[in-house]
Amino acid sequence: MERIKRNPYEMAVKQLEDAAEVLKLDRGVVDYLKVPDRVLQVKVPVKMDDGSIKVFTGFRSQHCGVRGPYKGGIRYHPEVTLEEVIALSMWMTWKCAVVNIPYGGGKGGIICDPKKMSEGELERLTRRYTTAILPVIGPDRDIPAPDVYTNPQTMAWIMDTYSNVLGYTIPGIVTGKPVEIGGSEGRTASTGRGTAIAAREAAKKLGIEIKNAKVVIQGFGNVGYHAAKILSEWGAKIIAVSDSKGGIYSDDGLDVDRVAEHKSYTGSVKGAEKCEEISNEKLLELECDILIPAALEEVITEKNADRINAKIISEGANGPTTPEADRILEERGIFVVPDILANAGGVVVSYFEWVQDLNRYFWGEERVNSELEKVLVRSFKEVYTIKEDYDVSSRDAAMILALKRVVRAFELRGLWPQ
Ligand code: NAD
Repeated sequence: MERIKRNPYEMAVKQLEDAAEVLKLDRGVVDYLKVPDRVLQVKVPVKMDDGSIKVFTGFRSQHCGVRGPYKGGIRYHPEVTLEEVIALSMWMTWKCAVVNIPYGGGKGGIICDPKKMSEGELERLTRRYTTAILPVIGPDRDIPAPDVYTNPQTMAWIMDTYSNVLGYTIPGIVTGKPVEIGGSEGRTASTGRGTAIAAREAAKKLGIEIKNAKVVIQGFGNVGYHAAKILSEWGAKIIAVSDSKGGIYSDDGLDVDRVAEHKSYTGSVKGAEKCEEISNEKLLELECDILIPAALEEVITEKNADRINAKIISEGANGPTTPEADRILEERGIFVVPDILANAGGVVVSYFEWVQDLNRYFWGEERVNSELEKVLVRSFKEVYTIKEDYDVSSRDAAMILALKRVVRAFELRGLWPQ
């Protein structure tokens, strides 16, 4: 499939401008929200295993802190750019606001190729980056988390570095940590669980029973696997899943555990069961009740939107649908639960992790899951009400709800110094 990567910052600003127009916001307020509160660019010199010194570039963008400390992941990728990091931090502002957790948006990144680095090099890169951004982060200031090619171990190094500099253990400096050092139960499954809850709530609105609903999932990683597992526990039939190597399809439904086991041995879902193989392109066009894109951005475009055969799309991935495709899906009456709501489960449980760290009191998984359920069901209802009141798509409704909350906080706090 031909894939054109848009300028993410332009896209983020366009979404802001569109929602601001519906709300008839003041130009000054829009200008205020178009740019981040603060951006830090740092050099990150690392001693490589061969003894040489390599200098990497890192960023941290803090988009808008009116609702609370900045929150957002750190990605390690060769194509990280400052513009991308700023756009992602803006999206985090909306994501936190739409589910009404008391954070502003942040995001960080380092231009590097983690696949070509050893564990030791990655540890030194992480610790040096942490010391470089240390003046702007903190448990009450800016709380990083994992993103593309960073993981719980990366968070453990950040937590340890920060704690060593300050002289005592501060688990609330990052979320997505291993449970043994202050991570939360239920965090690993939380994004997929949220995507499943969002799909279930949309199904209720359309009068579709989740039991026996046909579900197609692109991407069988953290988000895709957990969404599949939870939906199948609720009785849904997972008829197709895929990964970067291709997909499998069975109209009778797949055994999610068996597929996961096969993937853990072979590295792919392909060949997991005696069933049809299917390409990622064809998989998106299968007839089903619920389609969950949980892999990449921009996979539903104007080229395939009129062939999507799902009643509901619950966006596990960030940005899987282009604006052109959005319009086509809307015209065709397909219910899209937008990414900032459908994959917010991760940041909600990150918030729970932070609350537990600050209180030094840890919850069981059952409590985490039931609190997550409450937050997402409430947020879904709020977005749906705005969708009806303003007669807009769910994506626009989510953006309008988020923007209203951020602007209200901005107005209440006012400007100082003048
Ligand atoms: P992951 O790396 O665990 O899994 C990604 C899956 O997508 C893998 O199965 C991979 O094989 C598959 N994939 C890669 N290229 C593909 C292709 N061309 N076609 C089909 N499948 C392909 O990642 P993840 O954590 O599950 O994240 C998936 C998406 O969800 C990303 O867009 C991510 O930004 C978003 N997201 C994740 C979280 C989280 O908490 N993990 C939170 C919010 C959003």
